[in-house]
Amino acid sequence: TIPFFDAIIIGAGAAGLFCAGQAGQRGLKVLLIDHAEQVAEKIRISGGGRCNFTNQDIDPRAPHKHFVGQNPQFCRSALSRYTPQDFIALVRKHGIAFHEKHKGQLFADRSAEDIIAMLLAECTAGGVTRWQPCGVRKIAFSPSSASASGGDSYQIDTDRGPVQARSLVIATGGLSIPKIGATDFGYRIAQQFAVPLVERRPGLVPLTFDGDAWAPYAQLAGLALPVEISTGAKKERMSFHEDLLFTHRGLSGPAVLQISSYWQGGAPLAINLAPAVELGEALARAKARSKKLVANELAMLVPSRLADAWVGQSPANPDWQRPINEASDKALARLAEGLARWELTPTGTEGYKKAEVTLGGVDTRALSQQTMECKAQPGLYFIGEVVDITGWLGGYNFQWAWASAHACAQALPAQ
Ligand code: FAD
Repeated sequence: TIPFFDAIIIGAGAAGLFCAGQAGQRGLKVLLIDHAEQVAEKIRISGGGRCNFTNQDIDPRAPHKHFVGQNPQFCRSALSRYTPQDFIALVRKHGIAFHEKHKGQLFADRSAEDIIAMLLAECTAGGVTRWQPCGVRKIAFSPSSASASGGDSYQIDTDRGPVQARSLVIATGGLSIPKIGATDFGYRIAQQFAVPLVERRPGLVPLTFDGDAWAPYAQLAGLALPVEISTGAKKERMSFHEDLLFTHRGLSGPAVLQISSYWQGGAPLAINLAPAVELGEALARAKARSKKLVANELAMLVPSRLADAWVGQSPANPDWQRPINEASDKALARLAEGLARWELTPTGTEGYKKAEVTLGGVDTRALSQQTMECKAQPGLYFIGEVVDITGWLGGYNFQWAWASAHACAQALPAQ
């Protein structure tokens, strides 16, 4: 006979592991399947190996502040019922030391491995069966009328043979970092069951620029500095105050990763490279008291590598090559304006190879926000990143994984 489970969860990443442990601890018979050799590879590499596992600043009543998607309000219910404090309590219960790094972001002191060990211990406590590595070949649904078990059921053909379950939870994540096991599996299952999808694109990703246009800035690769970065038209305008990192091909760092999730192809970015100073006034004051070169005075206000590159890139402006007291007011104003309102249009992104997340995914209108179950397909659930909910950089994506997993785990029916 074919083994029967209350729930089969596909994907042993953040959402799948957490859902399995919680459902198991409610007394459900749970099977967790993943095709990768190692469990939770993304948790392992997250937060630079320390896993930024949640963010204390999440406001469940206003999810649009930190979550992107066609309908960020969708995550309100799950985020309010499983909060960062709930996950912190679990981390404490397992004796894992952690610290706040920046803007509410919580990291494990020692290693992301501690979070993985915690999730595995929660699965053990729930008596979860885990098959890994194990590929899934085919999924079929039998409505109660056609099912031997008497209720609706899913038949799943795996590398370890066929299994059946009353509920099927898809937790296979997004497309980012294919080399550690990301696939489009979840989206394909959605299509199989006619669940609508929102178009996918890489998020939290470095942005790239046309080679020739970028040439003057490529020499700045490795330079990091705090900036204000913005994109979008008036009402939709988004801004972040974070660090920017110059790379050989373009821009990265938290500022750019954050804005990338809001950037629409072809749209310009505006960057203030010196948000903490009023550059125009500072240069005017320097002109009144100094005979140093413009670049040297500018280097007191922004990193000197940036000052040199910026002034040097425009030999057409001879005023910028002079002692500051000989430069015209107009030339100094232009210099200040260029740095404070640097407008540039990325040509693309570094793609899923470098993206931390995938924007888009299972259309939230097709799911119940209380349970994550498909409205039109009984017993089929989608949780975590596969859903069209994407968090900001800073622990928001894991909190969505925990919260959506929790909502589903509480709702899964027992026999
Ligand atoms: P995942 O954790 O990706 O799990 C999906 C699982 O499904 C994987 O184990 C995969 O092997 C499995 N799977 C895929 N396809 C199949 C298939 N066909 N058959 C069987 N199994 C399959 N977020 C934060 O909040 N904080 C951070 O510090 C952070 N750092 C990150 C750093 C990097 C480099 C990256 C790439 C992401 C980071 N994220 C971070 C984002 C976060 O890792 C994800 O949003 C989160 O892991 C999503 O959880 P998930 O369970 O939905 O998917």
